Amino acid sequence: MILHDVEVEGRRVDVRISGGRIAEIADRLADDGVDDVDGYGGALLPGLHDHHVHLLATAAARASVDCSATLEPLRDLVGEGWIRGTGAAESVDRHVLDGLVPERPARVQHRSGALWMLNSAALRAVAHVLDDSADVERGPDGEPTGRLWRYDERLRPALPDAVPDLTELGEELLGYGITSVTEATPGLTALPGPLPVGVTFLGRRKLLLRDHDLPSFDDFATTISETHAEGLPVAVHCVTRESLLLTLAVLDEVGRLPGDRIEHASVVPDPGLLQDLHVVTQPAFVTTRGDSYRRDVDPDDLPHLYRYASLLEAGVATYPSSDAPYGPLDPWEVIVAAASRDLGPTERVTPRVALAGYLTDARFRPRRIAVGAPADVVLLECSLEEALAAPDSGFVRHTWTS
Ligand SMILES: [Zn+2]
Repeated sequence: MILHDVEVEGRRVDVRISGGRIAEIADRLADDGVDDVDGYGGALLPGLHDHHVHLLATAAARASVDCSATLEPLRDLVGEGWIRGTGAAESVDRHVLDGLVPERPARVQHRSGALWMLNSAALRAVAHVLDDSADVERGPDGEPTGRLWRYDERLRPALPDAVPDLTELGEELLGYGITSVTEATPGLTALPGPLPVGVTFLGRRKLLLRDHDLPSFDDFATTISETHAEGLPVAVHCVTRESLLLTLAVLDEVGRLPGDRIEHASVVPDPGLLQDLHVVTQPAFVTTRGDSYRRDVDPDDLPHLYRYASLLEAGVATYPSSDAPYGPLDPWEVIVAAASRDLGPTERVTPRVALAGYLTDARFRPRRIAVGAPADVVLLECSLEEALAAPDSGFVRHTWTS
């Protein structure tokens, strides 16, 4: 296949793709006759890489009731069987949910992803998997309130089998120009079906710190050393100041391995502390959740929320991601958020810088349109400069994967 008249790093050229690789780049290539594409000067970029996404949860969210604005959409649903809501901003108990869904079992995920809220019918249906841990919140009478923390895996055996269909999610990813992702769900190492984009699993490298129940320094040091001993850099989920400081202290003790990464780094009191680490941030959280952050976050932490520019200035390799379904999957929306955030405006980065973060591979190595590179490429409708002036997934014309 030949892509005629595409913009590559500022030059308008022809690009030949063959055997899943970029085979040739020249000012003018003779027609292959088959499958040739006229780019009309549109930018040809390496396919984007989302550095932190939860594919199964995103596919499931696409098939769920959107509770991000209010819980009201749960009311008046017709049909029977389980109801699954996602994206809720409120933390409610079973009585509130019973008022909305009195009969069918309903479970609603808090937008943090850490909390499931169940109504009474749902609690009855999963009663046999509720354990005595603090993850099952109980009222003064000892009865579950309906709030279950970090309970996905323990809930699963009690829920109807639902293997999410990844077909539409695959098309959505390609529609954004995404050709590969890092799947950040702890322990997940395979998908239940094919996906047209490359997937790197954090799997066992992903260490989740439970913010309402942080591990002891020694226990966490043991966990990180054991992971490092297998040659695996860790990816530690840090959404509070406390969890970040604990992680940094433990890494000082056990040593850092190249490739160690901090997921979220939601609160960074001092960017200089993160030298030699990779930070995977979610710029869109600041725009989609700004109001509740202003209301709920400790005022001392507000200036330190989802830092980006100051991390880069301190020499900390920082990359954008979606954390979908907990943030928007659309990378162009994330790029706009990174460049235009109102909360912490000094942490803005240019669209070019944010896009560059998406144009690296799973190990954060920059990718280029170059002979020999994999033909995971995205063709835009316009030049790169135009796309960066008003980033929008509507500019994505076509995405090819190798
Ligand atoms: Zn995540």
